[in-house]
Amino acid sequence: MLYTSTRDNSIRITAAQAIAQGISKEGGLFVPCELPQFSLDKIKEMAAMSYIDRAKTVLKEFLTDFTEEELNYCVEGAYQADKFSSAAVAPTVNIDGNKNILELWHGPTCAFKDMALQLLPYLMTVSAKKTADGKTIVILVATSGDTGKAALEGFKDVDKTKILVFYPVDGVSPMQKLQMTTQEGENVSVCAINGNFDDAQSAVKSIFTNDDIKAQLTEKNMMFSSANSINWGRLVPQIVYYFSTYCDMLSMGKIKAGDEINIVVPTGNFGNILAAYYAKEMGLPLKKLICASNSNNVLTDFLKSGEYDKNRSFYTTTSPSMDILISSNLERLLYHMSGNDDKLVENLMNSLSKDGKYAVSEALIKNIQRVFDAGFATENEVDETIKAHFDKYGYLCDTHTAVAVKVYDEYVSRTGDDIPTVIDSTASPYKFSKSVLSAVLGGNTPELDEFAMVDELNRITKAEIPASLSSLKEKSVRFTNVCDKENMSEMVFSLLNL
Ligand SMILES: *Cc1c(COP(=O)(O)O)cnc(C)c1O
Repeated sequence: MLYTSTRDNSIRITAAQAIAQGISKEGGLFVPCELPQFSLDKIKEMAAMSYIDRAKTVLKEFLTDFTEEELNYCVEGAYQADKFSSAAVAPTVNIDGNKNILELWHGPTCAFKDMALQLLPYLMTVSAKKTADGKTIVILVATSGDTGKAALEGFKDVDKTKILVFYPVDGVSPMQKLQMTTQEGENVSVCAINGNFDDAQSAVKSIFTNDDIKAQLTEKNMMFSSANSINWGRLVPQIVYYFSTYCDMLSMGKIKAGDEINIVVPTGNFGNILAAYYAKEMGLPLKKLICASNSNNVLTDFLKSGEYDKNRSFYTTTSPSMDILISSNLERLLYHMSGNDDKLVENLMNSLSKDGKYAVSEALIKNIQRVFDAGFATENEVDETIKAHFDKYGYLCDTHTAVAVKVYDEYVSRTGDDIPTVIDSTASPYKFSKSVLSAVLGGNTPELDEFAMVDELNRITKAEIPASLSSLKEKSVRFTNVCDKENMSEMVFSLLNL
């Protein structure tokens, strides 16, 4: 299996090169040249497997330059029992009738990012051994809240790696901030920036592709890579849980082999939903992929009209991990859906960085709409959904999951398409205790500190508190740096002692 770039498809590299490098030198994203196909028989066989074996079955098709031994080491290390609080790793829970929830937050940092970021450090170190001859890999991360912590936890004290995380100073929840600023490990740094996630992501992308900075790193025997979902190593582990939830739906008797299901994804950088698209293209019977946004609804508008326009107000919402206006992985979808048109993608991405917008042809957007539907939820709707779902089913959603639930309910009433459906649940409600508690209480927010809020939410809802969150109370804050977005590259130099 070889990989190419969305902006130059004459490139051919291995999985290990794609993972170690993170982003292509001309700024494009790495994509597989073709997709492996899974028959229904193979999918049925996978239904009898553990999550770890399902992961091996999917990943070995993509990581063909990894030996079986290497792959086993990576997958077993990532998903071992003491890392995830559910034996199923990513359990599918039936809510009511055809409505099911895929819980992706049982990992160490209580967000779906763990599904990929527990595995990525293993993939990265094996890849670096194959391709980067002894260089130290410097992982630069821009985070809207959850990636930062999940990457820190995955990479802490991993040999021959350093990790630097930048988060928007006012753009994360108190729990997310505490998770990052108390991070332990010798090879980690965390810095807040005066700016939003898009500022952080754009700065990180330009640091990556800056030849001067690269040369200075090479001199010190270091190289950059990325733990954001622009890295193929972040996306490929996410394909696994779509196969896994389909298998679980089979085992639960909710569907028969071959039946189609819909998937609903609370979306920001378009990584998670893109993994569902890959699974569909590999033969998994998925019908519609429903893209759910919060008030930063640039993707809803694009999927409905074919026009992508980030020139609009940026909202800081109660679902901060989706507060994104430049959705990186859409680039990969445009590449595949346009029949691998690298010149088109290059032009569209150039207009996005120059004018902040682009429009695709009628034919291309029609093609995309055959697979994708879209909608968005306002903050009031999110609150109402959390409360309604809790009151009716006793099931507590976090703010991001509630966006997806609301968009799904609206999709069913608009289209009448109520086939069995899986809604991705991307975070534990305790990462956003204040918003969730106030929603459950119908808008009354008690004046409590973060941990008292957690206890109160637990008292009212009886939902279990993840141990990794309650233990933060005892940890001390290690990182208090704040920098302006213009000074991020200087900060990188100083954190690396260059
Ligand atoms: C990152 C994140 C999302 C958005 O996922 P993308 O892959 O960026 O679309 C949604 N919910 C939560 C809780 C997240 O952490």
